[in-house]
Amino acid sequence: MSFKVTLIPGDGIGPEVSSAAQRVITASRAEIEWEVVEAGETCIAQYGTPLPDHVLEMIRRNKVALKGPITTPIGKGFRSVNVALRKQLELYANVRHLRNLPNIPSKYDNVDIVVVRENTEDLYAGIEHMVGRDAAESIKIITREASERIGRYAFELARREGRKRVTIVHKANIMKLSDGLFLESVRSVARDYPEIECDDRIVDAMCMHLVQIPEQFDVLVLPNLYGDIVSDLVAGLVGGLGVAPGANIGETGAVFEPAHGSAPQIAGKNLANPLAMILSGVEMLKYLGFVKEAQLVEKGIEHVLKQRDYITPDLGGVSGTKEMTDAIIEAMSNIG
Ligand code: ATP
Repeated sequence: MSFKVTLIPGDGIGPEVSSAAQRVITASRAEIEWEVVEAGETCIAQYGTPLPDHVLEMIRRNKVALKGPITTPIGKGFRSVNVALRKQLELYANVRHLRNLPNIPSKYDNVDIVVVRENTEDLYAGIEHMVGRDAAESIKIITREASERIGRYAFELARREGRKRVTIVHKANIMKLSDGLFLESVRSVARDYPEIECDDRIVDAMCMHLVQIPEQFDVLVLPNLYGDIVSDLVAGLVGGLGVAPGANIGETGAVFEPAHGSAPQIAGKNLANPLAMILSGVEMLKYLGFVKEAQLVEKGIEHVLKQRDYITPDLGGVSGTKEMTDAIIEAMSNIG
């Protein structure tokens, strides 16, 4: 079966790492037809916005997009394109698969964690206002519906991937109503998945346990703000943003994107590490059902990392983005 996918190259290093991901996915022989569209800085002059309506329409039509990093212009009145996309397309689950890869410097071994972050509410709803001149108030929204929905997503993922445990992360000891509702809602969903262990941690203790014994954790499910922070923490456990893929999933569509930003200072220099973007493409392949193709890409990456001849400077090598990508494709053709 063939799929049409929207490809958004993005800003800064985006075009380089997107092209890498596109080449590797094409080499996997997954039947994907790419529809490329610009969003981000390049659109502002022409359309007056980094996220023109036709981009949203195209993603809605194709249902799946692979997206490079997009810069949020600071102080120009534009909202984050990433946040806007999640909101407009109701991409309620932010999912990061984070695991140790061969020869990627990390203080830990055997980390294999999926962070499932609620993507639509909590303090991220951005409902805030000044109270007089010298105080500001920000409102945290947690609903049963959104909490159960993300809980179900986490347990379904655990079941699908044969994972054993889901840990609910919260601060219900202090925010008894809001985080209490999140905890209660996810726990109520857990009853439908008796084969999967369900426990919970207070977010501060969770952070300590993650840096002490990360290999003990499996799937984490969190409200938006803790999810934002903890997902970067877990990315740090396995080698940082250069190797952290991401997915934003909704009922009717999904946008896959690396966790890192547009790194403008190394843009256009063939220095960017393409792995986070390629691994986001791997997540996309699995989502579309191209499991064998995804595994082929993973094997190609592992081969190149083990061999260490073609790795980018951030990983301690001297290779360029393009050469590392060529090496992955070469390894895939030898394996496949
Ligand atoms: P933005 O403004 O879009 O968020 P940023 O550069 O601040 O961009 P981060 O992803 O937080 O975004 O990147 C921080 C730094 O990490 C970058 O400046 C760069 O030095 C490094 N970095 C991020 N991604 C990569 C990558 N794929 N390859 C190499 N270095 C990277």
